[in-house]
Amino acid sequence: MIEKIYDMVGSYDVCDIANRFGITITEVHPSLLSELGMIIPKLRTVYVREDLSPNLFEYTVAHELGHFFLHGHLVNNELYFSGFKGKLEKEANDFAIALVAKHHSIPEKQVKFYLNDTFPFLKLA
Ligand SMILES: [Zn+2]
Repeated sequence: MIEKIYDMVGSYDVCDIANRFGITITEVHPSLLSELGMIIPKLRTVYVREDLSPNLFEYTVAHELGHFFLHGHLVNNELYFSGFKGKLEKEANDFAIALVAKHHSIPEKQVKFYLNDTFPFLKLA
């Protein structure tokens, strides 16, 4: 999946990928989101907290893009809140870890370790 996306975009950068697929990334005040990020696939819009560090921003947008590419076809799930739990969340997390690893040319294991170490609330399995 990620290699297919790379072939189309020529980049592993989340902003480049969003641009290529006409997805708008909107940074919003933390009080407006109960989680780090959210995507409404039908509106092709990712909402992300404006107070995230660059690394957490990248991971969060990658996670929401994971929902778009992996779950965007589930019409009864038009809106995803990133609860970072459950089957769909695990799939989006795995997608995000793989994408970030490719972008920074580091092993996925190292990405997961860094994220869990720096942002323990993510509780990535
Ligand atoms: Zn999610």
